[in-house]
Order: sequence, then structure tokens, then C-alpha cells
Amino acid sequence: MLDVADALAIVLDRTKALKPEAVPLSPALLNRTLAVDAHADRDSPPFDKSLRDGYALRAGNYGSELIVIEEIAAGQVPTKAVGRGECSRIFTGAPMPDGADAVVMLEDVQLEGDVVRIGDQRLKPGQWVYPRGSEMKAGEIVLPAGTRLNSAAIGVLATIGGADVPVFPWPKLSVVATGDELVPVDAEPGPGQIRNSNGSMLASLACNAGAEVQDCGIVPDHEPAMIDVLGTVLAQSDVVLLAGGVSAGKFDLVPGVLERLGVRAHFHKVRMKPGKPLLFGTFNDTLVFGLPGNPASAFVCFELFVRPALRKMAGEAETGPRLVPMPLAEAIAESNDRPTYRPAKLEGGAVRPLPWSGAPDLRAMALADALLVLPAGESRLDRGMNANVIVL
Ligand code: AMP
Ligand code: MG
Repeated sequence: MLDVADALAIVLDRTKALKPEAVPLSPALLNRTLAVDAHADRDSPPFDKSLRDGYALRAGNYGSELIVIEEIAAGQVPTKAVGRGECSRIFTGAPMPDGADAVVMLEDVQLEGDVVRIGDQRLKPGQWVYPRGSEMKAGEIVLPAGTRLNSAAIGVLATIGGADVPVFPWPKLSVVATGDELVPVDAEPGPGQIRNSNGSMLASLACNAGAEVQDCGIVPDHEPAMIDVLGTVLAQSDVVLLAGGVSAGKFDLVPGVLERLGVRAHFHKVRMKPGKPLLFGTFNDTLVFGLPGNPASAFVCFELFVRPALRKMAGEAETGPRLVPMPLAEAIAESNDRPTYRPAKLEGGAVRPLPWSGAPDLRAMALADALLVLPAGESRLDRGMNANVIVL
């Protein structure tokens, strides 16, 4: 059976970044990944600019009294050069006049008519001046390709006049829950039936990972019905998540159906707990994940394999999942036949395993903000010892 790391390597190897698209400068760019280097089209600031309201003058050449020769507001252009014994009234954001190299703040001078008295304060050249090109110089790469756009980056794109920004699209992902026992959330489960919790959970996980999600509802354990739904879904999606029907039982029809539809299986079963039955295949460039039906298993498989694939498709360089060592908030003594991923809670820099009844137990997962990763074999760890964690 494949190890998690090898299985993830296979998934990522089959995952291609999607073709970039141009998106207008808008909040729709948030968390998208830039597909090209973004260059400054001009210096920023484009001129030496005042950082304060006050008086622009030449440091070291001012005398004790200066005549105000001009007023320069932000957005205006100075028309007079400042000479010896002169200054210009200037406002924050306005361009510095020729001849001036410093600003003295309004609060630090006395004004009598058109005469400014500075007293004996010492002015430094460059004081309260933001030199041209301090933030960026024309032609410079300000955001390299691969940058995930946060709000500040979107502002930087505005600074450089980025109107249509080439970014990677969000993957189109479809969720299909399989199982004769499943009923929709708004139905009253009859004898032997349960509600479809995987559909909503997987759709929201994918949504949180940035995918454009289509929830296709429930498909019964019936080959023709599965073929009918999947035939359409495979052609429309970058990623298909199936839940249930991938184990070895008589009614686990998913592997056979996928094969009949021409999906190429790359692996089936991974050495992990929960999540062992996981199947991964491709149909052209579409990724197909046959997730186990047990909800906590499906959840863990999503975090370990689907989220990294979605990240790669959306152009992110770092796919994760990232394992971080963290001290345990309580001792652990357990034995696992496979590497185990159990729900846990972060507590002031430490991690506490949550009570959990296994693969069907999604309730414990709902309270978790981390997965505690335990290796196969004996895990006897005291409180304060480090264990690996995947932060959710
Ligand atoms: P399967 O992988 O189809 O053998 O299902 C394993 C277990 O998960 C069974 O107990 C199913 O009833 C349960 N299960 C499957 N699909 C879902 C679902 N969408 N929501 C909740 N439980 C499910
Ligand atoms: Mg089933």
C-alpha cells in the first residue's frame, strides 16, 4: 500500500496549474495567484513629496526668518524655486519645489504674515521628504509571478495601473455523494437511512480552498445512474470529488464505474487512518478523487490530497500540507497500525487531541482546528513532548 507522501507526490505530479485569465482590478482578485511578474510603470512616488503639512526650504541655508513665496497643495505642481531666505507652504503629498530639500512642520514654526520663524532648531536635509522612487522604481518587478494577492498587493496593482490582471482561475469542482442509504438534508431519514453530510462538508471545504463548487447531490449505488451523472460531471470539472462506494464491498461501485468511463486510476488505497480506501484517477486533465464515505475519512483525505491539488491548480507554489511540530497539551499512549490523523485543538502553543470515535465521527472534527499526526506503531508521548500537527 502507498504511503501518504508517495500518494501526494502522484497527485501533484498529475495536477497542472490552470490556464491564466485576466481579471479586472477588483476584490475578485483576493487570494488569486499572479500568473506574471508585475512591473512598476513609473517611480512611486513619482516626485519627491512632502510627508507633512509645513514649509519646504533648503536645510542649512534658511536663516532665522523666511518669506513664504508660494503655497503648494497635494495635486498641484510648484512654480517657483525656493532660494535663500525663502520657503513655500506645502501640504502632505505635494511635490517638493526646486531648491528645497526639507520640510519643517507647521507645528514647529511661528508665522507672522508672510514671514516664517524657525528659531534655532536644526533641520536635516531630507527631513519629512519622501524621495522619488522610494517605494518602487519604474521597470522594477514589484510583485513576482506566483504571489498570492492579498489586499495590499491589490493596492500595489492599482498603483502601477494594473487594469486586467493575469491570474490563475479557481478550479471548477463537483461533489457527488454516493450511497443508497443517503437522503438529502431536508428529508426525514427512513429506516436504515442517514442524511448526506459529506456533500455539504466537501462543498464547503472546496469553497474554502477557493474552488468554484457544484454540489451534484446524491447518486444511488446503481451503475447506470452513476455513469449518467459522472459522464456529464467529468466533462465539466477540473476536479471531481466522489464520496462513498470506493471500498471493497459488493455495493462499492465507484472504481468499476470510473474505469468504464475511461478514468485512469493512479492509486487505490493509502496507508493512513482514517482514509485508507482513497482512490485517485484522472480523466484528461480532470482530477478524480474517490473519497471514502465515512465523513471524517473524507475530511482528512481532502486536507491531505485535495487541498494541495487545488492550490497547485490555482498557481500556488506552496501546496502543503505543512507539518509543524508542537508540544502536546496532554500525554498520549496509543498504538496504530497506520499513520493516524486525528482531530485536535490548539491551546496556547500546544496541541490537545480531542475525544474521537473514529472514521464516522465528524462531530469531533467539527470542533478541531488541527489534525494531530501520529506515526504507525506505538505512540507513547508525555505532555510537553513534540508531535506533528497540520493546522486546519
Ligand atoms: P462507503 O464508503 O460507501 O462504504 O461508506 C462508508 C460509511 O460512510 C457508511 O457507513 C456510509 O453510510 C457512510 N457514508 C457514506 N456516504 C455518506 C455521506 N454522504 N454522508 C454521511 N455518511 C456517509
Ligand atoms: Mg456506500
